[in-house]
Amino acid sequence: MAPVTRATARPHGWQWRIPLQHRLGNGYAFSSDHVSEDEATAYLLSHLDGQPLAEPNLIRFTAGRRKKSWLKNVVAIGLSAGFMEPLESQSIHLIQVGISRLMAHFPDRAFRQADIDRYNRVMTFEYEKIRDFLILHFKATRRNDTPYWDYLREMPVPEYLADKIDLFRGSGRVFRENEELFNDTSWFAVFIGQGILPQAWDPMADTMDEGVFKARMAEIKAVIARSAEVMPDHMDFIGQNCAAA
Ligand SMILES: Cc1cc2nc3c(=O)[nH]c(=O)nc-3n(C[C@H](O)[C@H](O)[C@H](O)COP(=O)(O)OP(=O)(O)OC[C@H]3O[C@@H](n4cnc5c(N)ncnc54)[C@H](O)[C@@H]3O)c2cc1C
Repeated sequence: MAPVTRATARPHGWQWRIPLQHRLGNGYAFSSDHVSEDEATAYLLSHLDGQPLAEPNLIRFTAGRRKKSWLKNVVAIGLSAGFMEPLESQSIHLIQVGISRLMAHFPDRAFRQADIDRYNRVMTFEYEKIRDFLILHFKATRRNDTPYWDYLREMPVPEYLADKIDLFRGSGRVFRENEELFNDTSWFAVFIGQGILPQAWDPMADTMDEGVFKARMAEIKAVIARSAEVMPDHMDFIGQNCAAA
């Protein structure tokens, strides 16, 4: 059993495949502007690794968020505040962040507008930074086989993302702003994985002694190899810790 979820680009969206102990969870996140529900359902059913165990369940959503998560004495958290895309599985993180930021700005009965405004500002930041990282996956596509992917490749993107792409293309650097969720390793994975490569390296690398640099890289490689060796096998781990009844 694969220990990972697989996400695969499809003609009008992407398909997930989540190995569970008793079945494979499958779904197709597609754009209803580009393909009908019937066609998408038929496509999903013909791209499963086995026989379907149930009829597909259609979930419609409009990507976006409330302009104000907190209004007067009501705070929207989780899906009531917004939803973007399941690709990076960040929905539960946004619930957690909504709760922790609410704790940080917790009001008394005065419900001071300054607290409310700041909460809404920080939540907007959370949503927008995650949005930009999600958009990168689609914008950086090299697929050109359907109008859906053509649209995504050509679409304008938010300025923050455009800057992030330019900075990485220039010298391979990613800067994490404040407490945004996705760190540099996440951005590297999508940039490099989707074929966006830097034209030059970080000039700071030139200040390092090449021998020291190579030794350090070899050390990292060895630590990863040793860690992998002592890790339990995926199925063994499940068997010992959380086997289905
Ligand atoms: C197949 C699938 C896979 C997912 N995988 C991930 C993942 O890997 N990682 C991740 O972070 N997220 C994932 N999500 C998303 C995540 O599960 C949801 O975003 C999250 O559970 C939403 O929680 P919530 O409390 O905001 O909303 P909900 O769980 O929808 O809770 C809202 C509750 O309010 C109730 N309600 C609605 N209207 C009213 C009303 N008028 N009065 C009283 N009660 C009402 C509803 O009955 C419900 O119980 C996945 C979702 C799906 C469908």
